[in-house]
Amino acid sequence: MTPNTETIHEGTADRLARRPWPATPIRPGINVSFEFFPPATEPGFETLDSCVEQLEPLDPGFVSVTYGAGGTTQDRTLKTLRRLAANTDLKIAGHLTCVGATAAEVDRVIDSYLALGVRRIVALRGDAPSGFDGGTAAGGHGSATEVVAAIRSRADASAENIDIAVAAYPEVHPKAQSAQSDLDNLKAKFDAGADRAITQYFFDTDAFLRFLDAARKAGITGEIIPGIMPVTNFERVRSFSERCGTVVPDWMSELFGGLDDMPEVQHLVAATVAAEQCRRLAEHGVTSFHFYTMNRPELSVATCRILGVKPQSVRSVDVRSTTGQASAANAG
Ligand SMILES: Cc1cc2nc3c(=O)[nH]c(=O)nc-3n(C[C@H](O)[C@H](O)[C@H](O)COP(=O)(O)OP(=O)(O)OC[C@H]3O[C@@H](n4cnc5c(N)ncnc54)[C@H](O)[C@@H]3O)c2cc1C
Repeated sequence: MTPNTETIHEGTADRLARRPWPATPIRPGINVSFEFFPPATEPGFETLDSCVEQLEPLDPGFVSVTYGAGGTTQDRTLKTLRRLAANTDLKIAGHLTCVGATAAEVDRVIDSYLALGVRRIVALRGDAPSGFDGGTAAGGHGSATEVVAAIRSRADASAENIDIAVAAYPEVHPKAQSAQSDLDNLKAKFDAGADRAITQYFFDTDAFLRFLDAARKAGITGEIIPGIMPVTNFERVRSFSERCGTVVPDWMSELFGGLDDMPEVQHLVAATVAAEQCRRLAEHGVTSFHFYTMNRPELSVATCRILGVKPQSVRSVDVRSTTGQASAANAG
């Protein structure tokens, strides 16, 4: 039988138009940011230093450092922020939770951040760690909305200049009464003065896109940055996802199943999953990405590269080594 070449060519053209590949930089104007946790040991700090060394050249919009609810990592968070402020030119955000803390304690943490020159805060309620009763301390803030309002209402002029990010949940916070109440809560945080939201990590990209639509329909106009979790250890991510309400789709279990003893293969698969997710989000117009690095740079660096985000020095090498045609394209 003679193949119908016209049909084949049309189909190929459609497919090529849908998904350009191999990976060319997606588009100009992609912004990335990175989250770190405060190390518990000196070797942990050295690992973080090396991670930061590899991520700083990517020129992130900001980096953030988590804070153990109940103040459990307060000293380590401050130590990490101090180290980043002293050793890098990065814009730094400190996370801040209110659960189990009085308003005065929260204020003292804000003061410490400002004293270090940290003018970005990720304002959170937090989850009480085991051993804490999980409730609001007497005279404490009961929700992230109250923390945002407290930062904005500080008497000092600096309150105006603090950039506040809050948490958002594309797959709904596990303790929220409903998806609607969770969205109302996010709106309340923006109304109280938040500048942007960073989402819980998710693997169902469509869930994020639907959530973004719902947020816009609800009148939320502020930036909502997707949180991207490159999977360094699938079993750990699966167990954590159960607690934080992130759905791990069956296709991920199939992809990662049987790789427990092959961490390097897991990483290769994880890099592909994260890159696919970011490419799909970018195809829908998303331009900012927040990476949960777990203090490991490789998967974030790889994913950023596929998004077209690479160190300035590499960019200038590329420009020098390209032909006049490429230079003209850059100038355009
Ligand atoms: C980007 C990001 C960064 C984070 N960083 C940290 C961090 O550094 N340290 C840390 O400890 N945690 C962190 N978390 C986790 C976060 O503290 C928890 O998800 C917490 O349960 C809710 O915090 P929130 O600020 O979203 O709370 P809120 O905005 O106050 O509430 C979010 C939703 O959860 C519901 N809810 C929350 N708690 C309860 C409760 N006890 N009972 C009933 N409903 C409840 C609210 O009704 C609402 O729908 C982070 C999460 C994200 C997405």
